[in-house]
Amino acid sequence: MAWEIDGRRCLAAGDNGRMKTTVAVIGGGLSGLCAARRLHAAGIDVRVIEARPRLGGRILSTDEHGAPSDDGFDLGPSWCWPRVQPQLAALVQELGLDLFPQHTRGDVLFERMSRETPLRCQASDQEPQSMRIVGGTSALTAALLAQLPADRVLPGTHVTHMALGHSEVELTTSRDDGAMGHLLADQVVAAVPPRLLTQLAFSPAVDETAARRWAETATWMAPHAKVLAVYDRPFWRDAGLSGTAQSFVGPLGEIHDATTASGKAALFGFVSVGADARAAIGEAALVAACVQQFARLFGPEALQPRATLVKDWSTDPLTAVASDRVPSGHPHPSAAPWVTGVWQERLSLCASETSARSARRWRWRTAWRPLGKNDSLLTTNQVGYRLGACI
Ligand SMILES: Cc1cc2nc3c(=O)[nH]c(=O)nc-3n(C[C@H](O)[C@H](O)[C@H](O)COP(=O)(O)OP(=O)(O)OC[C@H]3O[C@@H](n4cnc5c(N)ncnc54)[C@H](O)[C@@H]3O)c2cc1C
Repeated sequence: MAWEIDGRRCLAAGDNGRMKTTVAVIGGGLSGLCAARRLHAAGIDVRVIEARPRLGGRILSTDEHGAPSDDGFDLGPSWCWPRVQPQLAALVQELGLDLFPQHTRGDVLFERMSRETPLRCQASDQEPQSMRIVGGTSALTAALLAQLPADRVLPGTHVTHMALGHSEVELTTSRDDGAMGHLLADQVVAAVPPRLLTQLAFSPAVDETAARRWAETATWMAPHAKVLAVYDRPFWRDAGLSGTAQSFVGPLGEIHDATTASGKAALFGFVSVGADARAAIGEAALVAACVQQFARLFGPEALQPRATLVKDWSTDPLTAVASDRVPSGHPHPSAAPWVTGVWQERLSLCASETSARSARRWRWRTAWRPLGKNDSLLTTNQVGYRLGACI
């Protein structure tokens, strides 16, 4: 049996009995695709096994109907900062992709209390400037995918079990249609958030120290949800507004212009209501409240979006586990081994969260500095960020 992804024919695990590869990469997000690209370029036989029917993981750009698009709105990551993330910028350039600046021209709104009119302030220049990828962030993973032969990528294939043999690992996979498969690999690269690995069955069991560390490593942005409203035109710009807003009222805590490089107008916000409260409110009521907030801030035209999109990453089992419903801090880079004990010789971890890239500090100037906030000095370690995924 074969199926297509992005118009390319891919083989299913289990098609011809037991497949064998030198390196099996679990996860086709940015980390897995970068790892596979490097291995393939080095002449090593590699297979990427991806549970979702699409590639990209937390990177997701869709059209206004929610279908994956090569000119999409970002429901996962949207920004990179080339001066802070030079390796990511180099990859973008190498893949022939273009960047464009996040729209910040115009005033910023600040909503402190529900009984107060939002404060309007002149924005200072963003430093460093947030940049976006033309076509949406999925252009990055699509370009990486295009560099791998189609039969090296197995979407819709969930790794459920790994058994350690004498000289290889046997991976058991299951497909959405219930079909089971087996893949033998000399080496396994797990490019999935460490917490998800705790849900896989290992024979023999992984070392307790490693298992504990995986479980304790929060998945970056997994507790969060984005709501996006698509409009016929970016009407807020006519009023001299940038589309940027910060709110203590909610349900969106931080709002930005999400208009694509091709000019499709949109606003998006990060929901400040926690995962459990979101579940209690329900998606329809949450989106309605977000549209009301857009109107409160940007005027009545915001009440008539062409479409709305919502992505709650905390409810996506291929990103988040139950413990990701509670926000936790940014993961910190560490050189300590992620795999110990018997699995050490055959298994490596390479998701964004496991990057050992050392911290780089940068002075950030936020758009709402005129409100009296000082420049904030953030530690921009690359763990969790997309750069962590590609180095
Ligand atoms: C809302 C949001 C906003 C963000 N904003 C930014 C930003 O502006 N800038 C930035 O730099 N970063 C941002 N990030 C972080 C960025 O998205 C991640 O660092 C990066 O995409 C992680 O890539 P990854 O490949 O390591 O992991 P993932 O993208 O999580 O990929 C893991 C893959 O493994 C697959 N998988 C899981 N379990 C299995 C299994 N058992 N078998 C097979 N496959 C499996 C999953 O389906 C997934 O495709 C944001 C993230 C989110 C959610």
